[in-house]
Amino acid sequence: MTALAKIVHTAPEIEAEPDLTDGFHLVIDALKLNGIATIYGVPGIPITDLGRMAQAAGMRVVSFRHEQHAGNAAAIAGFLTQKPGICLTVSAPGFLNGLTALANATTNCFPMILISGSSEREIVDLQQGDYEEMDQLAIAKPLCKAAFRVLHAADIGIGVARAIRAACSGRPGGIYLDLPAKLFSQVMEAEAGRTSLVKVIDPAPAQRPAPEAITRALDVLKSARRPLIVLGKGAAYAQADDAIRALVETSGIPYVPMSMAKGLLPDTHPLSAGAARSTALKDSDVVLLIGARLNWLLSHGKGKSWGEPGSTKFIQIDIEPREMDSNVEIVAPVVGDIASCVQALLEGMGQGWQQPPADWIDTLKTKREANIAKMAPKLMSNASPMTFHAALGALRTIVKERPDAILVNEGANTLDLARGIIDMYQPRKRLDVGTWGIMGIGMGFAVAAAIETGKPVLCVEGDSAFGFSGMEVETICRYGLPICIVVFNNNGIYRGTDSDPTGRDPGTTVFVKDSRYDKMIEAFGGDGYHVTSPDELTRAVNAAMDSGRPSLVNAVIDPAAGSESGNIGSLNPQSGIKKKA
Ligand code: ADP
Ligand code: MG
Repeated sequence: MTALAKIVHTAPEIEAEPDLTDGFHLVIDALKLNGIATIYGVPGIPITDLGRMAQAAGMRVVSFRHEQHAGNAAAIAGFLTQKPGICLTVSAPGFLNGLTALANATTNCFPMILISGSSEREIVDLQQGDYEEMDQLAIAKPLCKAAFRVLHAADIGIGVARAIRAACSGRPGGIYLDLPAKLFSQVMEAEAGRTSLVKVIDPAPAQRPAPEAITRALDVLKSARRPLIVLGKGAAYAQADDAIRALVETSGIPYVPMSMAKGLLPDTHPLSAGAARSTALKDSDVVLLIGARLNWLLSHGKGKSWGEPGSTKFIQIDIEPREMDSNVEIVAPVVGDIASCVQALLEGMGQGWQQPPADWIDTLKTKREANIAKMAPKLMSNASPMTFHAALGALRTIVKERPDAILVNEGANTLDLARGIIDMYQPRKRLDVGTWGIMGIGMGFAVAAAIETGKPVLCVEGDSAFGFSGMEVETICRYGLPICIVVFNNNGIYRGTDSDPTGRDPGTTVFVKDSRYDKMIEAFGGDGYHVTSPDELTRAVNAAMDSGRPSLVNAVIDPAAGSESGNIGSLNPQSGIKKKA
């Protein structure tokens, strides 16, 4: 045989090399297969190319300046869409920066997945000092609902599927997915790669309540003289808006919305007892909790806020069985998903349902009208510098005229007063500091709200709160998002009037006096406004929102107007040492 013949003979074998794929592509394909279209993150080793390739593959990749804000964006994307929001970070420091958002998402029951690149397992586990060495999986575990690591490209499909199902099913929460650097360049046959991917079927299966739980709950409700419904952000998340509205209206039971449940029914609804909240909680005898936990935000279901000890019976709808009896006895636990539970209650009420006694409805109506009347003059003041009430009075009108816009809100006084003053008209339009009262969610939430919904965003921020995520105004300008940030600038945290008793330094709670936050957004090509009266504020916010451009309104608030810790000053420990008179 000649040499030539030999080559001809072996050629077909060389040609048979199969199509290949790798870890990068498999991660992207797995996310896309599951309908995930957006990644929030910060690029760097080892995930820089993952972001680039995801963008090239048609995904929206939103790069932030700090991982915490990318994480907050992912978390609120999860809340708004019921699909896990994805946050992508680099190893150790970037991962740690993302963890606050992951833990906050878990606490708030928002589905998100933090995907972090990590260093070489062999070196990390022997603690031999790798680049950004850290046992990320172990650190993430106690801070999230579940944590997984993928070591082989062939397991990426199942790893992503597990993360999605864990994030969305049952009580939603934050998931950590650890992807070591080596995984991304691992190669496998494209066809085998394709078949290794998993499309998650029914990621959040309906969980129907037991019929006897519904009967028990209805029996307790029927016995009530002064019933109340409390709607929490779980009810907003569930997207069972029509059923919830029907339950309230059919039952005739007044309701109080927790802050992120505002707008589930319009705050102006005749059965809203939001403006009579204290009376409603204190005097009610049976309370139906729908997607709201009896945590600190509801005084743990006991104490002065709830009237005489034992005077309130609780019925609770929640998907998480362990939530029942967490603080006080739940006389009628209804475990299941809110849509199914509310539907079952409605069906059980049937034709013969008796509306609650009229005197209870009248009591709440009278109280509500009195509170609204008491507040009204404070909202009208046109004084300069502005009080919180006057500035919020102006924004209240703007939100009324633009019910479609999403309101993001954080701060101390800025948060507590806005929650009460600004009425909401549509579901999932109010996004705020949630269960922890965390500061720093502002820009991350605003970015994701704009991206996920395509709606304009009004972001009402205390000057202190804004500082936690302020650098992301560059991100907002870079992506050209229709976000109007209003900074309530009272020169400090709570108030701008504190001083150092020794005279050496600024007081611990004050900032640079008369700062111009509006200049920050101008640095990146956005529109800055500086206002000192409610009329100017109204004009500026309307102009900003009409323009649809990235905007920041520096709203000068009286430095003496705030109170310590807003509405939760009572949580501040006081010194046990009494001052001598
Ligand atoms: P808020 O702070 O508004 O009172 P919480 O965050 O305390 O609300 O409570 C939300 C509750 O809703 C959580 O206990 C969570 O398990 C529950 N939840 C979330 N989604 C659903 C759902 N689809 N069905 C039933 N319960 C849900
Ligand atoms: Mg302030």
